[in-house]
Amino acid sequence: MDEEELIAANKCPVCGSDPRTHPGLRFKINTKCYHRICEGCVDRNFSSGKAECPVAGCHIALWKREWRTQTFEDLKIEREVEIRKRVNRTLDRQEEEFETKRDYDDFLELREELVMNLVFKTDVAATNRKLRDYAVANGIKTETTDAANEPAKPIKRKDVAPDAADPSGLIKGLKKIIIPKAKAPYDPFMGMSRTRDYYEVTDSYVVRAKGKPAEAMLAAGYDFGQYMDECLLRAFAGLGVFLEDEMATKNNTAVPVPGTGALKAADDVF
Ligand SMILES: [Zn+2]
Ligand SMILES: [Zn+2]
Repeated sequence: MDEEELIAANKCPVCGSDPRTHPGLRFKINTKCYHRICEGCVDRNFSSGKAECPVAGCHIALWKREWRTQTFEDLKIEREVEIRKRVNRTLDRQEEEFETKRDYDDFLELREELVMNLVFKTDVAATNRKLRDYAVANGIKTETTDAANEPAKPIKRKDVAPDAADPSGLIKGLKKIIIPKAKAPYDPFMGMSRTRDYYEVTDSYVVRAKGKPAEAMLAAGYDFGQYMDECLLRAFAGLGVFLEDEMATKNNTAVPVPGTGALKAADDVF
């Protein structure tokens, strides 16, 4: 490249400035059409909001913030890096999310294929659609899902398992999502049965208790039902005496009627 060509390559395609006429001239690029114009032209054209790229024949609409300093000398590399970044941001999966190493390798291959499709401009529409469907199905916010003019179509989930890690079905071999079981509420009795074997507090006990002097019943904040329960428990707990059994032996009755003994005993509490 001789000096003339070098100068031509460094010329702003919009205003024609080059570093020879404008020392310290700096260029900016954008990642939509990859046109490269000088900073002055960016300021002039984009200070009042969204505008078309000022390069002749290019009608890509851009914001000022979309113009940035070029990182790589070669614009092709600049573009590929940008595409890679965008695809990787969307298809962001780690090896441990896959069932096997083989599945992870397949995923990397798929991602590379999509990147290459975009870099070499093959199947661009289909590739972008795949990425957008994936992003929508997985709730990933991207520039394409945000800025898509057409509303994103809901994904058909018919042939996708409800616990599939990728509802769009693009990535295969992901581990299933294990939905954690709901935690049982705290049980201070650790599953121990709280039903009483020998008695049962019924409404009629409580009604009867209410007739008694109130001070005796309202001790320590118990309500009547619990107070009754507590009394009956104390009356029977740990005695190892089963009235029904004893009465059965005494009367020689074959089958004791459940509850009768306890009911008598409950009456005796007061
Ligand atoms: Zn310029
Ligand atoms: Zn342009």
